[in-house]
Amino acid sequence: MKEICNTQGDDARFDSSGCILKDKKFPFVYPAKGEGVRYLFKVLLTNICENNCLYCVNRRDANCRRYNFSPKQLAEKFMEYYRGGIVSGFFLSSGIYKSPDRTQERIIETVKLLRTRYNYGGYIHTKILPGVSPQLIEEAIPFSNRISINLEAPGENYLSRISGDKNFARLISILREIARRKGSNFTITTQFVVGASGENDLVLLNLAERLYADFGLSRVYYSGFSPQPSTPLSGLSPCPRSRVRRLYQADFLVRGYNFKAEELAPSGLLPDVDPKLNWAESHPEKFPVEINEASYDELIRVPGIGPIIARRIIRVRREGRLTSLYELKKMRARVEKTLDFITLNGRYYGRKCRSLTPPN
Ligand code: SF4
Repeated sequence: MKEICNTQGDDARFDSSGCILKDKKFPFVYPAKGEGVRYLFKVLLTNICENNCLYCVNRRDANCRRYNFSPKQLAEKFMEYYRGGIVSGFFLSSGIYKSPDRTQERIIETVKLLRTRYNYGGYIHTKILPGVSPQLIEEAIPFSNRISINLEAPGENYLSRISGDKNFARLISILREIARRKGSNFTITTQFVVGASGENDLVLLNLAERLYADFGLSRVYYSGFSPQPSTPLSGLSPCPRSRVRRLYQADFLVRGYNFKAEELAPSGLLPDVDPKLNWAESHPEKFPVEINEASYDELIRVPGIGPIIARRIIRVRREGRLTSLYELKKMRARVEKTLDFITLNGRYYGRKCRSLTPPN
């Protein structure tokens, strides 16, 4: 077994979409996105893989340097980084070596070592591999703060275009097994590769909406496709960053603002503008809403007002009517954004949106 060294940073790159390392001096260290910690030790147990996903630098047919860490090596290296204050969480995934179950067992062995031998009590994100047996999900849960399995694409017809080895129905059934065991002790996430399989935004967001509602996922991640040299998809265009940004914004609205996917992307693709503002400007019949009378659901659809501000407005309204924009400002509403879409105590302040008819 090889020693872990800095030059393995590139080989051990976590995913095939080209995540940026925090610092070349510290391989495996990535800024954590939405995981409640700042920097993660994020690594593949091995980049040997029996699968041949078309977008992946570690695919079976790839001619790349291969490595295969032992659970002990990884646990020791992580603890070195953790004690040095370089990272505050651990994220472990892997290529599939010998079999999904055999590899998953080694992933579990690694996180178990951290918890039992090194008494590490911090954040652990454990990846569940495609094709694993349900009892291994059960075994991973007690050591994990987060469990994830990547769906990669929003349906079998899309997935088959980028991976002949993964089966969408099987991935969903593993996700169901994870969700069935969900308590308050761990969260569940998944990830899509965006822009590699011909999917549109509506299909992605529709599935995300179902995953939040039916499986209790805490986050869906959108990884913009980035063509990697020497892969069969190397000639495909990369996914524009703006598309990923709009997907995250729309996903946020689906997750926390009761928007339906088809309200945000009715034509299939999200326009390259703020999705909430776009929806509001496309629905002049819904505005302006009177701040003193609007329901919670109406308030959170006003650009510049989110769930926290909407709850504050409703609380303050119990004491009496709001009469000045200053009161809204004090509640930290982004008042300039709201002006075209509200009346305050009967008065309309909007200027930009000419399609709205101010009340007399
Ligand atoms: S399963 Fe697919 S995406 Fe994952 S490492 Fe193997 S080839 Fe790459």
